[in-house]
Amino acid sequence: MRLVKRHTKRRYTSNWWTAGVGSGPATTAITLYPEYMHEVYIAESLLDTSIQKCRDEGFGRIKSIKVKIGRASTISVEALIFVFDALKIGSIASGASLIVEEIPTTGWCKSCNGEFSVERDFVFQCPCCGSDAVIIKSGNGLELSELEVE
Ligand SMILES: [Zn+2]
Repeated sequence: MRLVKRHTKRRYTSNWWTAGVGSGPATTAITLYPEYMHEVYIAESLLDTSIQKCRDEGFGRIKSIKVKIGRASTISVEALIFVFDALKIGSIASGASLIVEEIPTTGWCKSCNGEFSVERDFVFQCPCCGSDAVIIKSGNGLELSELEVE
């Protein structure tokens, strides 16, 4: 995660970020948007992580949150932005925009030992040898990449 402040820039590195299951406003949101349950948990977790990081660094407001979402993830970007905008109300991230960068999926084939990158949503077959013994290496999750605070 990269934390961008108004005048100085500092870089934080993070591993692939895993969404946790929370409580609180998300429970209400799930009642309102049951079809977006997956995205509600992710948005809530994103907000919790970002707000905590912002406060830890001594800042009072989040301007934007940038995330990288792999094309092989099951996250609906449209739904995520929708529930994020609903959950951020009343928090220090109320004016924050969620910026989503979709990244390609990379995989490794067990049969031919080849590595590949695809722009498709899901990978079921190795593009080199056609084997279905593929392991997704990246592009199947979500990473909080940058936080803009003031
Ligand atoms: Zn292969």
